[in-house]
Amino acid sequence: MIQIQLSERQEKIIDIVKYNQPITSENIAKKLKLTRATLRPDLALLTMAGILDARPKVGYFYTGKTNFSFIAEQIKGIKVADRKSVPIIVDEETSIYDGIVTMFLEDTSTIFVTSNGYLSGVVSRKDFLKSAIGGLNLNKTPIAVIMTRMPNIIVTTLEENILDAAIKLIDHEIDSLPVVEEVELEDRSKAYKVVGRITKTTITRLFVELAKNE
Ligand code: ADP
Repeated sequence: MIQIQLSERQEKIIDIVKYNQPITSENIAKKLKLTRATLRPDLALLTMAGILDARPKVGYFYTGKTNFSFIAEQIKGIKVADRKSVPIIVDEETSIYDGIVTMFLEDTSTIFVTSNGYLSGVVSRKDFLKSAIGGLNLNKTPIAVIMTRMPNIIVTTLEENILDAAIKLIDHEIDSLPVVEEVELEDRSKAYKVVGRITKTTITRLFVELAKNE
């Protein structure tokens, strides 16, 4: 559970613990002129949120964690595997024209390109626009001509946490990351199988869910 908005009383409890730790719930209650029973739900919430730490027979400690660091910890616990969506993939031989049609039909902003089933490139809306104003023959030119190619593709993996994936989107100013699994080919070289995608929409959706406390 994420409690973004703390009540006035909860803020007061945090202050009391901060300056009197370790302090028993009885003594917190005395300072607030309330009963222990009244405070129980607040203390339970603050402990669950990681803001206070309760040690049996000793009392409550302030952990130094804010609400925000609690949210950050929650986010870091979410793996790419939990959030990935279905990737839109075409083969390198696909024409630019068919790539554009795929982009419209699949309602996606990025297409991943494969060669022999392994990741070889990425094509975005701007790549298509550039090819169109550049006067290429869209029906005859393969998408491979305009894609950003390996090894310059920024990828994520199933085990990576969603915050690190989001940081990659921001740092590289891109909309989408292929989720990949590395495989070793017969000649011992490495290649990537595309198993999903993480996009700015993935992150926006998660942001809304966290805020709505779903
Ligand atoms: P748009 O074209 O809609 O602005 P992006 O910002 O995602 O989309 O793409 C900008 C450029 O970065 C394009 O040339 C695209 O090929 C490239 N690109 C997109 N995603 C990646 C990625 N994961 N790794 C490397 N390059 C990428």
